[in-house]
Amino acid sequence: MASPVYVEDREFIITGSIGVAGYPDDGISTDTLLSNADAAMYLAKQVGKNTYRFYTEGMNERAAERLAMESRLRRALPKNELYIAYQPKVDLKSGYITGAEALLRWENDELGAVSPAEFIPLAEESGQILEIGEWVLRQVCHDLHTLDKNGFGDERIAVNISSRQIRREDFARQLTGILREYKVEPTRLKIEITESLLLSEDSHTIEVLQALRRMGVELSLDDFGTGYSSLSYLKRFPFTEIKIDRSFIRDIESDHSDKQLCQAIIAMATSLKLKVVGEGVENHGQLDFLRNYGAHSGQGFLFSKPVRIDEFITLIERGPFPLSA
Ligand code: C2E
Ligand code: MG
Ligand code: MG
Repeated sequence: MASPVYVEDREFIITGSIGVAGYPDDGISTDTLLSNADAAMYLAKQVGKNTYRFYTEGMNERAAERLAMESRLRRALPKNELYIAYQPKVDLKSGYITGAEALLRWENDELGAVSPAEFIPLAEESGQILEIGEWVLRQVCHDLHTLDKNGFGDERIAVNISSRQIRREDFARQLTGILREYKVEPTRLKIEITESLLLSEDSHTIEVLQALRRMGVELSLDDFGTGYSSLSYLKRFPFTEIKIDRSFIRDIESDHSDKQLCQAIIAMATSLKLKVVGEGVENHGQLDFLRNYGAHSGQGFLFSKPVRIDEFITLIERGPFPLSA
């Protein structure tokens, strides 16, 4: 399977996810064996694909749970169970809110609030992310008008985009269409993508990102430091901002290597003329550190949790956050 396949001079790499169930321990009938092998294959996909898993007891229940969750998620949009929460990004020199990150929320009758960390991967795997992602973009455009009407026409909203969305042939065209339809300037929008999305460095992704940047959309590299953190990404892709992952900010005061890492990231980004955002700022010690080393913005519970649009507007109206304890 590792050998590439050629179609019309283009090289394709194909990977496989394999589930294994053995007779007679994992089932006597063909049906049971196949369904157990299927459950094992799902786990192989879940742990990152291109691997194999053997069937173990309990796998079927988990696979059934996943399936139930997937079909609930399918009804989430028509049932109006999704909404966007906005988390302010704060300028670390002035304390003013310069924009927000749009974070998807799912409130289900039976399951309660489900974390996007849980349902986004599911939506990606089932392909639902395309429809949900489009809804997010539309909702954000709608909310940008609400911001405008309240006199906040400068704030930029950042939207998280997953790999599946960007790999779509026509993502740039789709986005242009939505912006036109809602009469929203591309300069009001920022796209956040995670490092892991760039691993393949395929030419399509580069082209899409360059097209977005030419339109005036800003590009932010999310969760920086958790993947390969390759400097070549920063050179090859037209980013305007990087976000230092929460895991490095958490122990920034006590952990010497985290401290040095953050310092190095800020210095490197600044010399590349990129803006730096610290994610997950929860206390004044972390805030002081980021300010002292010259990070441009901060985002985290210290300032605000992600809130609904009307509450976000109230936050902006309140004026700058105090930056010292
Ligand atoms: P992310 O883009 O890195 O988002 C930041 C996460 O950190 C959010 O979690 C946010 O609520 C959380 N956070 C912010 N400040 C703090 C803090 O001070 N302390 C702690 N402990 N956490 C903080 P959330 O909302 O659960 O989102 C998780 C991930 O789900 C996001 O990570 C993003 O990758 C993904 N996601 C969220 N919304 C969307 C979306 O609309 N589309 C796509 N494709 N992915 C999304
Ligand atoms: Mg993000
Ligand atoms: Mg992040």
